[in-house]
Amino acid sequence: MDRMTDLTKLTIAEAKEGLKKKEFSTTELTKAYLNKMDECRRLNAYVCETPDLALKQAQVSQEKYQNGTAGDLEGIPLGIKDLFCTKGIATTACSNILKGFVPPYESTVTSKLLAAGASFLGKLNLDEFAMGGSNETSAFGPVINPWSKDVPLVAGGSSGGSAAAVAANMCAGATGTDTGGSIRQPSAYCGVTGIKPTYGRCSRYGIIAFASSLDQAGPIAKDVRDCAIMLKTMSGYDAKDATSAKIDVPDFEAYLGQDIKGMKIGLPKEFYVDGLDKEIAAYWNKAAEMLKARGAEVVEVSLPHIKYALATYYIIAPAEASSNLARYDGLRFGNRIDGKHLDDMYINSRTAGFGKEVKRRIMIGTYVLSAGYYDAYYLRAQKVRRLIREDYLKAFEKCDVMLTPTAPTAAFAIGDKSMNENPILMWLNDIFTVSVSLAGLPAMSLPIGLSEAGLPLGMQLVGKAFDEASIFKVADALEKDVDFRKVR
Ligand code: GLN
Repeated sequence: MDRMTDLTKLTIAEAKEGLKKKEFSTTELTKAYLNKMDECRRLNAYVCETPDLALKQAQVSQEKYQNGTAGDLEGIPLGIKDLFCTKGIATTACSNILKGFVPPYESTVTSKLLAAGASFLGKLNLDEFAMGGSNETSAFGPVINPWSKDVPLVAGGSSGGSAAAVAANMCAGATGTDTGGSIRQPSAYCGVTGIKPTYGRCSRYGIIAFASSLDQAGPIAKDVRDCAIMLKTMSGYDAKDATSAKIDVPDFEAYLGQDIKGMKIGLPKEFYVDGLDKEIAAYWNKAAEMLKARGAEVVEVSLPHIKYALATYYIIAPAEASSNLARYDGLRFGNRIDGKHLDDMYINSRTAGFGKEVKRRIMIGTYVLSAGYYDAYYLRAQKVRRLIREDYLKAFEKCDVMLTPTAPTAAFAIGDKSMNENPILMWLNDIFTVSVSLAGLPAMSLPIGLSEAGLPLGMQLVGKAFDEASIFKVADALEKDVDFRKVR
């Protein structure tokens, strides 16, 4: 069997099957991934590797398979975005200010994964404090997209390490977080599948906060089914997070393979933006046709306030970030640079600890929250956020799921001058993802095909609040028609 020659190519569902049937052991599976990590180290996806821990966990899992007590993710080696606090394992948010920080506790999401039997191969690279769309703001340097040809391309961001690690088979699946697109956009750039669930679906406890009213955890995996398996484990109410939702978690996997006949797929007309890559527009059409061919009805919907989404996001997210990042003062966490007085110590620690993009966001955030400007910027942005959410609610009266591109272009080159010198250009990349985050809705990115240059492109499926199930149904249908695995 070909897949046996490289265990890292198996999906989570296939690996579970193989482990159950004793075709290979959890240790063999783990070692295959550790080898792959070795081979692909130049991609810079991992910022901390935990091979000993993974092998120890594999042994425990093997016993569980033997005595019939295997959990939903038993023996499955995962990579964890370095924004999740992991007990006893360095957690940095890829910022110099947190270098050396070893959390004394485990995030709820990672605890759930561990309880289900998963093992952790290490911590994955990200944009510093998840601020960015290309993984270039990381204190550990950028992640290289495994699809790069002559020039190294970005993996996307902020969960660039997660998407690249999954794409290069350096883990069976990975955790990501998404504040304005950080699961979906890197998934699109790397040709993998990722879902940001509804705000409140996964607990934020133990995830280093960027913008608390937007941050959500979610899986990045090799396919739709693996996302369903991981998301089920990661979801659920948690008393430790006041915004986590007391809502039942469905068995997302059960929705795969269901008929999508009669489902209404909305295409938001405002998403036909200037600068949308022609190839992406063509794939968008093609995806709609594929769904139509399966009996879904495609309807046009309108989100009239969407043009304000980026501006709104880039006020609200920095505002919340500036407040969340106030805790990094050199006293309690990570790096301290002493000074003559207490104030000097704060200034020195924060000056040395934060990178340029994080400082930019703190400056914007404190500005829009300052006494004279609060009403004009922050309060107004909150009001526009409400309008955007209402647009979505109204549009969802006409459709069950929306189909849009994930990002306006394919992955670009690392260090691309225009992107790096002009933050606005970089921020424009989030045009299709941020409004969904502002509305708190679930959305998935899945590969739709390759560009002429041979780079993966992604489509986004947006659902109603807590209706990830419909996304899974439609995504599964689309995935079958696209058959991207053949391309990979
Ligand atoms: N690219 C967006 C930003 O820079 C989104 C990041 C994220 O979702 N964490 O804020």
